[in-house]
Amino acid sequence: MLHIGCHLSSTKGFLAMGKTALSIGADTFQFFTRNPRGGKAKAVDAEDARALRELCAEHSFAPLLAHAPYTMNPCAAEEHLIDFARMVMEGDLAMLECVPGNMYNFHPGSHVKQGSEVGIAKIAAMLNEVLYKEMHTTVLLETMAGKGSEVGRSFEELAAILDKVQLNEKMGVCLDTCHVFDGGYDIVNDLEGVLEQFDRIVGLSKLRAIHINDSKNPLGSHKDRHACIGEGNIGLAALSAVTNHPQLRLLPFYLETPNELDGYAKEIALLRGLYKENTC
Ligand code: FE
Ligand code: FE
Ligand code: ZN
Repeated sequence: MLHIGCHLSSTKGFLAMGKTALSIGADTFQFFTRNPRGGKAKAVDAEDARALRELCAEHSFAPLLAHAPYTMNPCAAEEHLIDFARMVMEGDLAMLECVPGNMYNFHPGSHVKQGSEVGIAKIAAMLNEVLYKEMHTTVLLETMAGKGSEVGRSFEELAAILDKVQLNEKMGVCLDTCHVFDGGYDIVNDLEGVLEQFDRIVGLSKLRAIHINDSKNPLGSHKDRHACIGEGNIGLAALSAVTNHPQLRLLPFYLETPNELDGYAKEIALLRGLYKENTC
């Protein structure tokens, strides 16, 4: 079965998201841990978290994906911004222990003129402070489109961060189809080649989640504008080749397309319809 969900609003709490996911044919979902522009984390309602855990178990959900706020920049130039990023990630990882066994995705950050090498070192340094042996969440670096001074625009940059993290077994990568396409990886004409590169540089065993988005812009545009499935420059055929690829098909997929719930329901049904169940 295709494991697929979409980004959901977290304002009504954990259980509400689980029920919404079920109502649109999803068996997982992504949510912001707090306001995407930053802000305080809400106190966790233990009963609400327990109810979601039950719902996920009952309906065999794939791992959930928590998304860090965009304002978190672990490789900022200013020390107080790095302190803020550390505080956010520490708080989020503590909160996620209420729903153990899931994943936490973050944008590696922007090096803002310090150069990517400095950026990579700062990101790894923060991860080394924040990750701990007993945690039950896998932390994912998201592949970025490479706008501005974004770190994580190439597989090499992601690998360089991972190489410096001591608790490497707690880490993985979330591949965003819009971002890699905008970043210059031609998943339309050469998915095989892109995955070979990923495997050689990062290792496919590190790939834990996929953001399945079309792109409003052409290959290599470094823009990061998501389009609905089949309405962008990647196209339905290429996106369905991603969900069906032998080395990707068992991963969880998360839509971040510009949709309301009914649009998400349609895209989930569309991709499920094109998913070839394994007969062997
Ligand atoms: Fe993201
Ligand atoms: Fe994404
Ligand atoms: Zn994006």
